[in-house]
Amino acid sequence: MSGSVLVTGGAGYIGTHICVALIEAGFTVSVLDNYYNSNPVSLDRVAHITGQSLARIQGDVRDHKTLSDALQQSGATAVIHCAGLKAVSESVQEPLHYYDHNVVGTLRLLEAMAQCQVKTLIFSSSATVYGNPQFLPLTEEHPLAPTNPYGHSKLMVEKMLRDVFTADPSWRIGMLRYFNPVGAHPSGLIGEDPQGLPNNLLPFVAQVAIGRHPVLNIWGDDYDTPDGTGVRDYVHVTDLAKGHLCALQQLAASKTGHCTAINLGTGTGYSVLDVVRAFEQASGQSVPYRIMPRRPGDVATCFASPQLAQQLLGWQAQQDLLAMCTDAWRWQSDNPQGYTNAL
Ligand code: NAD
Ligand code: UDP
Repeated sequence: MSGSVLVTGGAGYIGTHICVALIEAGFTVSVLDNYYNSNPVSLDRVAHITGQSLARIQGDVRDHKTLSDALQQSGATAVIHCAGLKAVSESVQEPLHYYDHNVVGTLRLLEAMAQCQVKTLIFSSSATVYGNPQFLPLTEEHPLAPTNPYGHSKLMVEKMLRDVFTADPSWRIGMLRYFNPVGAHPSGLIGEDPQGLPNNLLPFVAQVAIGRHPVLNIWGDDYDTPDGTGVRDYVHVTDLAKGHLCALQQLAASKTGHCTAINLGTGTGYSVLDVVRAFEQASGQSVPYRIMPRRPGDVATCFASPQLAQQLLGWQAQQDLLAMCTDAWRWQSDNPQGYTNAL
């Protein structure tokens, strides 16, 4: 595969893994990131893993000129749009901040892409667009009813993309709805580096295992699930990155434009206690925990139907929970403070 791809938010957790996958597949990659929630060291690590350099543009997706310059300079024929904010609880406190980065940022990107005649886009959407599951597994036809501003911002963007496609059916748009991305590149050089106290389970478990926190709080053990703790569809971040390659291939190969939402998940749910046990096995460390009240807004169970991804993209996640925990542990133990103070 060849061609030039612009990855917005490419210095972040998922973006760095996508950059590695793209470069290894033969693409030329440019990254546009304002480093709001990332560290440029992550891109040095991408270059180290791949043995190739990548162009970096420090800038904001809400800025039209930055975008049109980036598209022109990179010669990109496709954009993978990962830039955005992702913390659910923060989005409840600061909704306008979320609409600004996520919705206005995408609006500006679409304007610049249209102006530069770049009409192939993969958007980082999220399973949060479904809201509380009415049935499982979650297929793409499930009603869309997000329950927080972060989820609303993702759904607004999906609607905006559908409208853009309706007005101009030459666009090729993939909206990839990620379930719970976890794990890290097997080199241990790139991984998730949350700022402050992690909200998500895997990084918190990893930080307990390394001794940064004494105990994991498990938010509720009285759900209607096999062991009472919440069940989620964890997907290895390198599998997720490969899903983007498959989507790019499929968009490039298709004779007509389209705008399609596709789940990226494994189709299997694991409980919080399953994750704790797998992490202990992978790390050889104990992960002390205590049961706390339920976290407001959490659902009991959430997992994907991965069938459409298999059918349309030929993509299927390959790696199991133990591999996700093994790679997360390698990243955590090799980089106890993430990219902070890293060379
Ligand atoms: P991340 O925070 O690690 O990466 C996002 C990147 O975007 C960061 O490098 C950040 O600096 C950059 N960014 C943010 N606002 C920007 C702006 N205005 N201009 C330029 N750059 C900006 O997050 P991630 O986990 O890699 O997530 C990537 C995308 O995937 C996000 O859109 C997120 O909503 C979506 N997503 C993530 C998850 C998850 O659990 N990690 C799940 C579903 C969807
Ligand atoms: N969870 C937990 N303790 C934590 C973080 C998360 O028990 O410190 C639980 C949470 O209640 C849910 C699961 O782990 O059942 C996954 O939570 P995460 O925030 O990672 O993903 P999301 O809920 O957004 O799918």
